[in-house]
Amino acid sequence: MYNTKAFSAASATAPLAAITIPRREPTDRDVRIEILFCGVCHSDLHYARDEWHDVMPTVYPCVPGHEIIGQVTQVGAAVTKYQAGDLVGVGCLVDSDHTCSNCRAGMEQFCPDMVLTYGSDDSHGTAPVTYGGYSDSIVVDERFVLRIPANLDLAATAPLLCAGITTYSPMRHWGVTQGKKVGVVGLGGLGHMGVKFAHAFGAHTVVFTTSPSKREDALRLGADEVVISTDEEEMKQHAGTFDFILDCVAADHDINAYINLLTRDGNLTLVGAPEKPLSVAAFGLIFGRRSLSGSPIGGIAETQEMLDFCGEHNITADVEVIPIQKINEAYDRMLKSDVKYRFSIDMASLKSE
Ligand code: NAP
Ligand code: ZN
Repeated sequence: MYNTKAFSAASATAPLAAITIPRREPTDRDVRIEILFCGVCHSDLHYARDEWHDVMPTVYPCVPGHEIIGQVTQVGAAVTKYQAGDLVGVGCLVDSDHTCSNCRAGMEQFCPDMVLTYGSDDSHGTAPVTYGGYSDSIVVDERFVLRIPANLDLAATAPLLCAGITTYSPMRHWGVTQGKKVGVVGLGGLGHMGVKFAHAFGAHTVVFTTSPSKREDALRLGADEVVISTDEEEMKQHAGTFDFILDCVAADHDINAYINLLTRDGNLTLVGAPEKPLSVAAFGLIFGRRSLSGSPIGGIAETQEMLDFCGEHNITADVEVIPIQKINEAYDRMLKSDVKYRFSIDMASLKSE
């Protein structure tokens, strides 16, 4: 074991602060990575504040961060894919059982024994739970390490590891292509990546936002139309017309307003994970045989596919780079929907702690 610097929350109400955490020495299959950038996902905030207590109670101290970009500094004896000096990424998953039907199908995100980058039981016994990317370094099984296209800016690539794959995967699954009318609800970290992908896939892309000030940005990011979701008249004009809507909202809101915008057999997929249950009106689904689904991140193969797609199409997140010392301010701004459109932490800032 070795010690490394990190930022953690000590309780649901404590601000994040510097801490020293243990990491394992790389085993044969492991890669040790010096972390250069880490994106700030709203899930980090939900987790640090124990807002998902009923599903996955937070173990403190917690070290969030699952949008990791770094450089390989050491590899285990059996590692074949990477060598020291490689630029790599790590997303929300760091291990799985490799044997269940989901893993065999390349969908580790559904593995009953998947190990999340932070907050999962640490099977190596280094710490009570896994610690995430708000840290100097991390040690990860090479099978969960991703290759980063050389042409992409590193700070802006970090958010692809969660916000990117979480929006790319359901759009691929539900057939977002040219000729489809697609809605993206909530122009935050996930939402702005959703807009970029829907546009890149050729769909007619409509952004739903509660923030009129984001209208111009939405169009610049690739939206064909922008709807202010609090304007009932504007919403009504789109009734029954959407093939697919991706809901990326982090807080309580009325999803029935969006279900009613779906066409026959249209689908609304939730990727946003608010703290409290949402209510669903049965008739919104019954009339029109519409469906409501959810979708978690994506498997490793699909995450690599997404990164390669981003490399080919020059797609990255729009980021505001911050030092780790601004993380608590960043969380406050995230709660005010004041992020354009993802914070990316320059982890060099941790060295001064
Ligand atoms: P974010 O950057 O904070 O964006 C959320 C957006 O939702 C805001 O920018 C805002 O957009 C909208 N919004 C916020 N409060 C709202 C309210 N009260 N009513 C309506 N709209 C509201 O968050 P994020 O990082 O994109 O994450 C979004 C959600 O996805 C979080 O719950 C997160 O935990 C979850 N998530 C899920 C997965 C998964 O695998 N399914 C992966 C990552 C994250 P406007 O200003 O445009 O209205
Ligand atoms: Zn995330």
